[in-house]
Amino acid sequence: MLKTENIQTIVKEQYQYFLLGKTQTLKIRQQNLKQLKELIINHETEISEALDKDLGKSKFESYLAEIRIVKKEIDNALKNLRKWVKSRYVSTPIEQFPATAFIQPQPKGVVLIISPWNYPFSLAIMPLIGAIAAGNCAIIKPSELSPNTSKLIAKIINKNFEPNYIKVIEGGKEISQQLLQEKFAHIFFTGSPSIGKIVMEAAAKQLTPVTLELGGKSPCIVDKNINLEETAKRIVWGKFLNAGQSCVAPDYLLVNQSIKSQLLEAIKQVIKEFYGEEPAQSLDYGRIINEYHFQRLSALLSPGNIIIGGKLIPEENYISPTVIDNISPEFPIMEDEIFGPILPILNYDKLEEAITFINERPKPLAIYLFSNDQKQQKMVLETTTSGGICINDTVMQYGVLTLPFGGIEKSGIGSYHGQASFDTFSHYKSVLKRSFWLETNLRFPPYKGKLKWIKRLLG
Ligand code: NAD
Repeated sequence: MLKTENIQTIVKEQYQYFLLGKTQTLKIRQQNLKQLKELIINHETEISEALDKDLGKSKFESYLAEIRIVKKEIDNALKNLRKWVKSRYVSTPIEQFPATAFIQPQPKGVVLIISPWNYPFSLAIMPLIGAIAAGNCAIIKPSELSPNTSKLIAKIINKNFEPNYIKVIEGGKEISQQLLQEKFAHIFFTGSPSIGKIVMEAAAKQLTPVTLELGGKSPCIVDKNINLEETAKRIVWGKFLNAGQSCVAPDYLLVNQSIKSQLLEAIKQVIKEFYGEEPAQSLDYGRIINEYHFQRLSALLSPGNIIIGGKLIPEENYISPTVIDNISPEFPIMEDEIFGPILPILNYDKLEEAITFINERPKPLAIYLFSNDQKQQKMVLETTTSGGICINDTVMQYGVLTLPFGGIEKSGIGSYHGQASFDTFSHYKSVLKRSFWLETNLRFPPYKGKLKWIKRLLG
C-alpha cells in the first residue's frame, strides 16, 4: 500500500506540473486524447479479458458499454474541443463603455476520479476524458472489487502518461480515504450514495467541488398504449445487462394492472429467447461481482412470489434472471437499489398512482416510461423529477453523449458526458476588460451634484 507521504508527493508534483501549463494548450489536450484512444484500441482484447475475469462480461457488452462508448466520447471531444475552449463573449452594460466581457473556461488543476466496479473500465476513463479535454492533471482510483480491470487501467495509464500528469493509484477504501485527505481542485466520484456522503464530507473540509454520480432505484412505468413485445425486450435487456449491475438499470416495474399478465408472459418468453432455457450456460449472461453482493441479493428473493427464475449457483455467484410478483412497498427489496438481476413487479390502475409512488421516494437517476400516449408522456415529464427520463426504452439515454448524464439529490450531484464533462472539469472565469479612454468621472467622489446625472443617464 502507498504511504501517505507518497500520495502527498504525487499530488504535490501534479500541481507543480500543472502550473507549468503543459497540460493546457489545445494541441496538447488533443494529442493526449488521441494517445488515449490509440491505447484503448491497442488494448481492446486485454480490456475484454479483464472484464470477463472480473464480471463474466460478454465480449459484446464489453465492447458496447465499456470500449466503444469511451472511443465515441474521445471522438466527440476531439471534434468539439476547439469550440469548447473558446471564451464566450457577453454584452456589457452602457455604464461600462468602453469595455468587453467574456467567460473564459480554464482547467481547474489536479482532479481526483474515484470509480466503481460495475463498468470498471468506462467509468474510470469517461471522466478522465473530460479532465484531459479541460486541461487538468488527474489521479484515478479504480475499484478494488474489479481487480483485473483496475490493474490493466493502471498498466495502460501509468506506462504511457507522465505520473505528474495522469496517475492511477490502485487500492481500496483506505487508499481512497488517504486520497480524500488531500486538496484537489475537483473530485469526481461514481459509486453508491452512502460512500458519496463520505466523499462529499471529506471534500467539504477543503471546500472542494464535487461531482457525485450515484445510484438508486430507477422505476419503470409500463402503461397500456405500447408495443408489448418490444417493451418486454427493452425491459429485459436493460434490466439483465451486466446481470442487473448497472446504475441506470430499471430497478422495479410499475405496470398498469390491465396489461400485467400479458407483459409478464412476454418477459418470460424474451428471457428464454435472450439467454436460453438455462441462462447459466449463456455466454451473454454475467455473474454477480462477489460473494458479499451474491448473499445480499439472495436475501432479497423473498418475500414475494418468484414467477421467473430465482435459481442460484453460489460457487459461481450466479443468480438467474428473476422476476418477483406480489411485492409490497414495505418489502426489503423496495428499500435500496437492487443492483442485481431481480425485477420486482408492482401494479397500478391509474398513472397518477404510479407518479405518486415515485414522488414519495428519493429522486431517481432515471425514470422509464413505456407509453405511446402523448398526454401520459407529458404528465410524467412534468410531474416527476429525476436525473433523466427515457421514453419507450431503457438505459439507451446513457449513450447519447449530447445529453448530460447525472442524478439529482440522492441519485447524484452534477453531470458529465460530452460538453457537460468539459464544463464539469473547467472553471468558467468571468473577465471584464476596460479601456483607458473615455472616463466620465461620474462614479468617483465627491458625489455632490452627480446623482441627478446618474439618474438621467443611466436610470
Ligand atoms: P462504492 O460506493 O462501494 O465504491 C465506489 C468507489 O469508492 C470505489 O473505488 C471504492 O474503493 C471507493 N470506496 C469504498 N468505500 C469507501 C470509503 N469508505 N471511503 C472512500 N472511498 C470508498 O460503489 P460500488 O459498489 O463500486 O458501485 C455501485 C454503486 O455505484 C451503485 O450504487 C451504483 O448505482 C453506483 N453507480 C453509479 C453510476 C452513475 O453513473 N451514476 C455508475 C455506476 C455505478
